[in-house]
Amino acid sequence: MAYDSNNIFAKIIRGEIPCKKVYEDAEVLAFEDISPAAPLHVLVIPKGEYRSFDSFARKASPEEMVHFFRVVQKLAEELDVKESGYRLITNHGAEGGQTVDHFHIHLLGKKPMSKLLATE
Ligand code: 5GP
Repeated sequence: MAYDSNNIFAKIIRGEIPCKKVYEDAEVLAFEDISPAAPLHVLVIPKGEYRSFDSFARKASPEEMVHFFRVVQKLAEELDVKESGYRLITNHGAEGGQTVDHFHIHLLGKKPMSKLLATE
């Protein structure tokens, strides 16, 4: 499926919708989730047009991928959950529970996570 440049996160990247920014560079943006599922709930997104993990993994350059995941790691460290622990989630497609069609990683922490994810 084609990337839809009118998705919410594309609008956030363009500055058309506000966000609580946590980090930004030329390729990556991180901001607080509007409906947090944990005391720390940050969304990390590449600025490139990737619909989900699937297209990011297939199309992004190795440099872009490494940079993206290094930012995720650095944010976890700077947001002080490296020692306490954190959870990374990315949803792909309808049955994965994806609701915004721009690749994003959820960085969750500052509370103990449940052992298993809810599946219904
Ligand atoms: P998904 O369900 O696609 O994995 O995650 C989408 C996430 O985006 C959800 O956790 C949802 O709360 C968040 N979200 C949806 N709309 C907005 C918005 O306008 N601003 C922010 N900051 N987060 C949003």
